[in-house]
Amino acid sequence: MKIFLYAVLVLLVLVVFAVGFVLVPAHLQIRNLDIEIPALEEIQALEVSEMDMPQVITFVTTAEQGSGTGAIGHVGVLVTWLSGKQLLIDTGMDNEAAIAFGKPMETLLGADPTEAYGPVEEILGEDINEIEGILFTHLHSDHTQGMTTLCAAMESPATIYQTSQQAEQQNHLTAGGQQLVDSSSCKRSILNGELIKSIEGFPGVFAIAAGGHTPGSTVIVVLTKNQTSIFSGDLTNAIANVRNNEGKGWLYSNLIVPENTVLLGAWRSWLKSADEAEGLSVFPAHDIGHMRQSDIIELK
Ligand SMILES: [Zn+2]
Repeated sequence: MKIFLYAVLVLLVLVVFAVGFVLVPAHLQIRNLDIEIPALEEIQALEVSEMDMPQVITFVTTAEQGSGTGAIGHVGVLVTWLSGKQLLIDTGMDNEAAIAFGKPMETLLGADPTEAYGPVEEILGEDINEIEGILFTHLHSDHTQGMTTLCAAMESPATIYQTSQQAEQQNHLTAGGQQLVDSSSCKRSILNGELIKSIEGFPGVFAIAAGGHTPGSTVIVVLTKNQTSIFSGDLTNAIANVRNNEGKGWLYSNLIVPENTVLLGAWRSWLKSADEAEGLSVFPAHDIGHMRQSDIIELK
């Protein structure tokens, strides 16, 4: 009995410690970031010549996990130009990391075991040498873990482009991702300038500092012929959450991942307008079912 009471006491101390020293600063940080959401018209007004714009968008699935609410995918999105040059959005995970990542959802939420097909360099083989740029929707491990071996496998390392918020504003869940960026053999570049940031050498791709889910969450816009694709990372888990205006629940947004729920609400209504607009498509990072139903082709 004494041991039990002692264990409870230790647990309580740990919870108080976590709330006081980790979660409170993380919540203050993500609520106080200076984030501005551009007008949707500004996205619709973006232009790039047909010759210069990306020709095709494809994706690779490093892992997926079935669940009651639909499959959760861990994908890397590839944007390809006429020259063959590519830009990769998120790197997914290697197989071991993907299986470990899915375990809590398997045991706590009854999800299926994770099926792992990665990592990116094994799926793509030598084609990884076409990748010249990498963007992350945010720095959580399920989006970044694959970068170390991917960058190491490249003959000529790609450049990782980040907003200053993503590179500089970390919490306990993103610091590890930034360490991977800093220690990877890929090059690094910070995107400065306007609200909708263009990326030199990658015409038709734009990054917007979004915050909300992590301090450095980034919305990525890709213009192709007749279509503007908006990669919204984990601002929502699925397209249904955009269409039905659903948040992730108190427990998730307060204790599991410290989120700015007010800002995420504003982004959801922005994404909903985008989803309903002619010529615009929204792609939440984990909604693999939605991606498979779209014009974006899956590479295997
Ligand atoms: Zn994620």
